[in-house]
Amino acid sequence: MPKYSIYSMGTVDLKYIVSDLNGTLALDGDIIEGVAERFQALDKLGFEIFVITGDIHGNAEKLFEHYRCKTHVVDITEKHEKQDIQKFNFINQLGAKNVFALGNGANDALMLESAAVGVLIAGQEGGSTLALQKSNIVINSINDALDLLLNPKRIAGH
Ligand SMILES: [Mg+2]
Repeated sequence: MPKYSIYSMGTVDLKYIVSDLNGTLALDGDIIEGVAERFQALDKLGFEIFVITGDIHGNAEKLFEHYRCKTHVVDITEKHEKQDIQKFNFINQLGAKNVFALGNGANDALMLESAAVGVLIAGQEGGSTLALQKSNIVINSINDALDLLLNPKRIAGH
């Protein structure tokens, strides 16, 4: 399991990357360029990568079929628990203490708070200030966020 030394947390074992889709990995339904090669590099390092989404366009699985990741669709119908709770439950099932979580919306706040490392992406869709308050790191793009894991010295000061 990849190990990181992070100023405010000490040594952290990270095994899972869990990312929101819209506004985090994708803009207007298209995956941001540069994500595919980073997923490949992180997969080689031993990470398991999950994309978690309400899948409002109904195409998440197809979108990522050639990517080194799994998709997990949360239920957005009214009968089910709210998205924020479902995302929170998902990372807790994996083991939140080994999760590097990425998101941009208010429905990511709980997940970002309980993950070992929660990263708020304040990209072109903007980032929720509610989620920002629950995060460990704020950064402006998904590629820069994934590069933190590929360049451990960049994360050391957090
Ligand atoms: Mg989002």
